[in-house]
Amino acid sequence: MIRKIIVSVSAIALAACSNAGTEQLVSTSAPASLDDSAAPDTMRWLYGSGEGAAASIQTWRQIADYAVAVSRQRKVPESVPLGLPDVEGGIDTPSCVAGDGTMKPFAAVFDVDETVLLNTGYEYWAALSGKPFDADEWKQWSDNGAGIAAPVPGAVTGLRRLREAGITVIFNTNRNSDTAAGTIAALEAAGTGPAVHLETLFLRGDDEMGSRKDGRRARISQDYCVIAMAGDNLGDFADVFNADESAIAARRAMVARGEYAQFWGNGWFLVPNPVYGAWQEGSIGEVFPTERRWKPQPGDAPATMEP
Ligand SMILES: [Mg+2]
Repeated sequence: MIRKIIVSVSAIALAACSNAGTEQLVSTSAPASLDDSAAPDTMRWLYGSGEGAAASIQTWRQIADYAVAVSRQRKVPESVPLGLPDVEGGIDTPSCVAGDGTMKPFAAVFDVDETVLLNTGYEYWAALSGKPFDADEWKQWSDNGAGIAAPVPGAVTGLRRLREAGITVIFNTNRNSDTAAGTIAALEAAGTGPAVHLETLFLRGDDEMGSRKDGRRARISQDYCVIAMAGDNLGDFADVFNADESAIAARRAMVARGEYAQFWGNGWFLVPNPVYGAWQEGSIGEVFPTERRWKPQPGDAPATMEP
């Protein structure tokens, strides 16, 4: 899991907490408790809202509908394009024919965090503490979050449908390899398992490529015909998309225009995550193209407007 910023929320609440016991200092506008302080909007959307649940269910339904339909096609199967190391342009389509001439079995490849599991427990602590990402705390959560981490809405049903169709479910996550046992336990407890390390679960540290997933994708595609991929970060599809996260317009254009645009919803599935990700870059000048900008003009206000 790579992340840059956790939105700080609770400074006011913590200030109120630090004054506990000095009744005269507590503002009447302060939350009655930390639970009453405002959660970040991004977390409200992903972990608390019906809209977030609906969007996730919608995506997972699309994943299962697509992959099950592909698995039933009466023609020679093809892999979806994958980010792979040492190929021109960083993306290629591996063969679904094994070395002995047989067809490789079907697989669908998933990121874990905010794709299959919601890290609501860890994010609660992040919202409460206002702390930036802490690798030691993240490892504790990865080791011990089983039973607290909920499935992304729609994931349990979606994964069950894939497995019932004979499609192997494989997880490719940037949790560290030393958290394999805790990650397997969390996937199982959420109803999204099973997972077996180095068979159907690959983690950061399983190879020498760090958080880049292309090498793990290459390894998976040696044994499987990958007919669908899903994640909440472009790196879940191809490392080349994250080669320059600060190149806002170019990064967006790479996925939204040209040959790769056709794969969204058509083999590649983006699960919504507004809380954190490689997308957390960009100034106002970079996010708003010149031709899309607007400002109200002085003198355009209605004549009846009060001064
Ligand atoms: Mg993720």
